[in-house]
Amino acid sequence: TEDMLRQSQKMEAVGQLTGGIAHDFNNLMTIIVANLDRALRLPPGDPRTTTTLENALTGARRAATLTDQLLAFSRKQPLDPGVHDLNDLVARTADLFAATLDAGIAVQTELPPGVWPVRVDANQTENALLNLAVNARDAMPDGGTVTIRTLNIAAGTRDDAPPGDQVMIEVADTGTGMSPETIARAFEPFFTTKGVGQGTGLGLAQVYGFINQSGGRIAIHSVEGEGTTLRIFLPRALGPT
Ligand code: ADP
Repeated sequence: TEDMLRQSQKMEAVGQLTGGIAHDFNNLMTIIVANLDRALRLPPGDPRTTTTLENALTGARRAATLTDQLLAFSRKQPLDPGVHDLNDLVARTADLFAATLDAGIAVQTELPPGVWPVRVDANQTENALLNLAVNARDAMPDGGTVTIRTLNIAAGTRDDAPPGDQVMIEVADTGTGMSPETIARAFEPFFTTKGVGQGTGLGLAQVYGFINQSGGRIAIHSVEGEGTTLRIFLPRALGPT
């Protein structure tokens, strides 16, 4: 489709955009250096030292996130697919994610037993789910619930599912939701509505690429003021490994 063509053209443009990333990274380095420099010059025991060092730390953390995401996105990691139980992958991710949550945000899972096996790269699947969960958290500044669920979808039983037996995974939040404009552009590399130095706009682009490479499909369902659901379909794996 036209959307997919546009997406692949965007992906190719990524190489040319690394200059932009270098620029963002440099901005963060400027902040880090300036704050460390300032902290060193403050008289011993000055109360501003803590804030100044905290600013440097924040900049360093953002720089680390930026490079992590850029690397994960551009690496074109070769897939290492195997036949997996999605419930196991989701449960592991939910545990990992729950450890990073502040009070006010709950994570729950709905994992009916007997989910069909799918053929995916386990690590990259967990990374993708984590990406979606982090976005869900970011969309709930006043707290809320992230729900991750799986469901078997038999061939022909759902209009929005691809042909054949599918396993559906949803990551749903009770957050801000997205405007129609944001929904339309959310999978584009470098599209972000988060502040400068906060978002890289690479998370969903990476997830989109990975799900497509895995033979699956991903779509956004979102209502402003109510929340967002990212819905993924992966084909049921036939036969062993
Ligand atoms: P980033 O998180 O760095 O901004 P992403 O590609 O992961 O990059 O997301 C792109 C944009 O899509 C976000 O900036 C945000 O506007 C929107 N978005 C993604 N997930 C959600 C969500 N669960 N709720 C609301 N908006 C979202």
